[in-house]
Amino acid sequence: MRLTVLGCAGSFPGPESACSAYLVEAGGFRLMLDFGTGSLSALQRYAGLTAVDGILLSHLHCDHMLDACSYVVVRRYAPDGPYPRLPVYAPRKAHERMSAAYGGDEGPLDDVYEFHTLEPGTLEIGPMTVTVDRVDHPVETYGVRIEHDGRVLAYSADTAPCEAVNRLATGADVFLCEASYLDSEDNPPGLHMTGGDAGAAATKAGARRLLLTHLVPAWGSESDTYDAAASAFSGPIEVVRPGARYDI
Ligand SMILES: [Zn+2]
Ligand SMILES: [Zn+2]
Repeated sequence: MRLTVLGCAGSFPGPESACSAYLVEAGGFRLMLDFGTGSLSALQRYAGLTAVDGILLSHLHCDHMLDACSYVVVRRYAPDGPYPRLPVYAPRKAHERMSAAYGGDEGPLDDVYEFHTLEPGTLEIGPMTVTVDRVDHPVETYGVRIEHDGRVLAYSADTAPCEAVNRLATGADVFLCEASYLDSEDNPPGLHMTGGDAGAAATKAGARRLLLTHLVPAWGSESDTYDAAASAFSGPIEVVRPGARYDI
């Protein structure tokens, strides 16, 4: 299994990164895990315009889904298109939200996407076994565990610390975890994690490697977030960058 970071800026695009988008490849299948603002540009830079066989949206905040709307133009109007419909696994109302964002007068996107509503549980996406569960965020949000060929990638999505994300990351080879907030701030509950929270979750889960993502460059401190995570997790830690690839 291979993970390519396309975008990792939290909440809004940063000066050097699009918002959340991760390409997960296994057994010849390419799953776009979130498709946030600006990541269609990064898809072309680091993977290829058509390098997507399916899309999973953890939740419907703009920084995790808006470029799935932009991608409609690619699939529908390419000179050698239209391309085959893509499966989209997403929370309830993704169909309506994405159609509205694209522009309701041009149809409901059913010619481009085949929508599947996420619910807690396990499903097969291509050759990957994917388990999702509700995490602690103000809108319906799913953390994700992807298994293939005995290897495990866990993704926190956006969440405050919670048992569901710890379960999803149990024994993960790679735990891609958000760390939006600074440990030194008085952060609101029920929204996001700090670096310290991410490290603690990785330790509880027994994850092998921690990748920190969804930092907010304008408001955060990468070094403070890293240090806080390292104080709570003794394994290898990295703050991800656009274009970074990890063989899992
Ligand atoms: Zn977000
Ligand atoms: Zn969010």
